[in-house]
Amino acid sequence: MVTTDEIRRNLEAVRENLSSAAAASGRKPEEIALMGVSKFQPAESILAAFECGLRLFGENRVQERESKSTSLSGMQAEWHMIGTLQKNKARRALALFDCIESVDNAALAETLERIIGEHTEETKFVLPYPVMVEVNVSGEDTKQGVAPEKCFALIDDIAVKCPHVGICGLMTIGPQSEDEHKIRDSFRALRELKEAAKKRFDFAMHHLSMGMSGDYAAAISEGSTIVRIGTAIFGVRNKQL
Ligand SMILES: *Cc1c(COP(=O)(O)O)cnc(C)c1O
Repeated sequence: MVTTDEIRRNLEAVRENLSSAAAASGRKPEEIALMGVSKFQPAESILAAFECGLRLFGENRVQERESKSTSLSGMQAEWHMIGTLQKNKARRALALFDCIESVDNAALAETLERIIGEHTEETKFVLPYPVMVEVNVSGEDTKQGVAPEKCFALIDDIAVKCPHVGICGLMTIGPQSEDEHKIRDSFRALRELKEAAKKRFDFAMHHLSMGMSGDYAAAISEGSTIVRIGTAIFGVRNKQL
């Protein structure tokens, strides 16, 4: 496990890189939220990052987030679900996360709608509950996400059928590639999709969640508003966790 000091230094380095990447493309660093992706990281590391001022975290499995709940109960932070979500875990995900970034099919959105709808009286959720649509811009078969050409049809469908679900942006995972051009093209494609969506839909889709430890500078220069950073903050993941 990495020490709090290492996490502090890592965070400083990431924040510095984030600021330079923002400045290089004429953007303000405050426009870009830094998410700590804490999958396969122990609760102690998450608490250490919180101590260092990090307030947004992401996990990709419901069960893992749940298993850390008790240790993190006093921590006031925002949590995003960034991994594939099965419909049968939607209820648990809603209880644990403030936003689900990985919606890529209408059936999942409809399940979320039904569960959120049950709770309207108690105003348990901030409504509409924020989600993002995950898009597979790189077209790699191993990736989740709706195909870019089907993205608007999915957004239409969710907007019509799911009034309690609010699409606040688009999310993608960059291509598995060392080729800087390929990576940039992929992030640019997501930005262009968001710009086209802005003209087509009458609701604000502000977020572009893109960029991870290896490619966040490129994502920021293409307009990312949330970068999802795991290893560059927390070190290598402990798959035994
Ligand atoms: C693991 C993961 C990340 C963070 O990856 P790093 O390369 O460790 O920064 C970001 N987004 C998603 C969806 C992930 O699953």
